[in-house]
Amino acid sequence: MIDDIFCKIINKEVPADIIMETDEWMAFKDIRPQAPVHILIVPKKHIQDISFVKEEDRELIGKLIIAANEVADKLKLDKGFRLILNQGEHGGPLVPHLHVHLLGGKHLGAKIVADTN
Ligand SMILES: [Zn+2]
Repeated sequence: MIDDIFCKIINKEVPADIIMETDEWMAFKDIRPQAPVHILIVPKKHIQDISFVKEEDRELIGKLIIAANEVADKLKLDKGFRLILNQGEHGGPLVPHLHVHLLGGKHLGAKIVADTN
C-alpha cells in the first residue's frame, strides 16, 4: 500500500493549499516554503522518484513542466521562477513521491544551493 503524504493529499485524505489540479497532476503550497512562492507539482500517479520514471511516463513528465507554466501564469510569476527535482541521498527528497519544486516571488540569485561544502 502506498501511503506517502503526497498520495494522501492527492486522495484528499490530508488537506493542502491546492493551487491547481487536473486528472493527472496537482499543485499545492509547500508547508515549509523556502521562497515567497513555493509550490509542489506532483503527478497523481505514484512514482517514487526520478529513478522510477519509465518510458511510459514520458508524456506525464512533460505535462509537469507545462503545469509549471500554468501555475506560474496563475500566480503571476511574470519575472520567472525556478524548478527543482531532487533525487536520492544527495538530492535529499523528503517524500518518496516524485515532485517538482516551483520557487519564485523574488530574485533567487545565481546560486542554486546555499553552500558547496
Ligand atoms: Zn505517492
